[in-house]
Amino acid sequence: MSYDFDLFVIGAGSGGIATARRAAQYGAKVGIVESDRLGGTCVNRGCVPKKLMVYASHFPDGFEESAGYGWKVGESSFDWLKMITAVNNEVDRLNGIYQRMLDNSEVKVYRGYGKFVDSHTIAIGDEKVTAEKILIAVGGKPVKPDDIPGVEHAITSREIFNVKEQPKRIVIIGGGYIGVEFACILNGLGTEVTLVIRGEKILRGFDEDLRDEIQEGMKRHGIRILNKKPKLSIAKKDSGLEITVAGHDGESEIIVADAASLAATGRIPDLADLGLENTKVETAKGAVVVDEYNQTAEEHIYAVGDCTDRINLTPVAINEGRAFADTHFGGKSRKMSYENIPTAVFTTPEAATVGMTEAEAREKYGDAVKVYLSKFRPMYYTLPNKQEKTLMKLIVDTNTDKVIGAHMVGDSAAEIIQGVAIAVKMGATKADFDATVGIHPSSAEEFVTMR
Ligand code: FAD
Repeated sequence: MSYDFDLFVIGAGSGGIATARRAAQYGAKVGIVESDRLGGTCVNRGCVPKKLMVYASHFPDGFEESAGYGWKVGESSFDWLKMITAVNNEVDRLNGIYQRMLDNSEVKVYRGYGKFVDSHTIAIGDEKVTAEKILIAVGGKPVKPDDIPGVEHAITSREIFNVKEQPKRIVIIGGGYIGVEFACILNGLGTEVTLVIRGEKILRGFDEDLRDEIQEGMKRHGIRILNKKPKLSIAKKDSGLEITVAGHDGESEIIVADAASLAATGRIPDLADLGLENTKVETAKGAVVVDEYNQTAEEHIYAVGDCTDRINLTPVAINEGRAFADTHFGGKSRKMSYENIPTAVFTTPEAATVGMTEAEAREKYGDAVKVYLSKFRPMYYTLPNKQEKTLMKLIVDTNTDKVIGAHMVGDSAAEIIQGVAIAVKMGATKADFDATVGIHPSSAEEFVTMR
């Protein structure tokens, strides 16, 4: 049987575009469908606009710190609409680049919502296309918890990039990385931020020292964190939103915020209208089930990225997609390695991590685990006389001397941990770290001088 395409990709986000281009480079005839803007979550409403806003949020600290270095900065003011417009202009520019990249790769781009009619056929509006192999790369979408009365008044991370007026007061619900990043961005930009979390601490799953350090840092920067508050309700009033928060002890408090209250409580794969019932593709806990080669229960249908709900990060979606394309169109059988994936949290203070947390390491290696921890004031903060600290932590398995975890909270953590991650991924030992000459003066040198 002949098909319109060798490969048809549903969703032109991080995973979908990377796969389509790689497969086309190998000579495959590739089509891709996108219902929204090209580039997906990362480019349009995730990593990119968020990081631009992170940069915007750092300036007030910089102005303050510059005084310690002899600068006198005049009165400063912030124009939210100007920032949002500039951020969205950059997103538009990137959309154009993605279109050109796909055109240059000779990938045929369809605009509309793709839906399975049968296991080889996708309908896009009235049009139908067939393909020998199909890749599901539809990503995820934010969910608002249904156990919060009035949650319909809250916005999610999706809408925040288009809010035209800066909220003066905001309540952010949820202590995952998206919630804490937006708490820091808005706080840096001058919004009064209250972060409400159900548990004791933010960032479940991260190393405990990291969690403590970031949480303390956020409080020091003026964010109010209300922990152990599982019960919430939101009511719309003339004065704005009234958010009632309560703990198990029954004690409650009403916080008044502006029109915007961000529910940063989680994301789910975007599968509802995909027509998966017309295929044999299986799902579990709302995500597409795939094997280590990204193959679904239907032999010729594959899935990558957030819709499989494994590790929901852009470089992971890209890597999964490229491994699939290499295997099926490039003649290089390859599966993605999920070990030692570095990641960052762009809070203020910033954090980044690779490998095991101390708790995970102790569970696996028990007393053989040795922890090296250093906390210091970076040189930059001495003249401004600020009590900002950097925390660095190495976890070593003394059976092998291998560094099995590296964690950092402090300026440029993401940039520094990216390099350390190469060493950890290669299986570097503590002796290798010790034998590496530091770059002086830098904060990063602490990673090779900890004893
Ligand atoms: P997506 O990029 O979401 O792409 C899926 C695409 O499919 C979308 O464009 C969607 O419109 C389209 N689509 C869905 N259904 C259909 C259909 N039926 N037909 C046609 N098109 C369809 N990751 C990082 O690594 N670093 C970060 O700093 C980071 N920050 C983030 C901040 C926020 C606020 C959010 C929400 C996410 C962030 N992420 C970050 C996660 C990252 O954005 C995702 O992991 C990544 O985008 C996943 O790529 P994907 O290809 O699986 O899905």
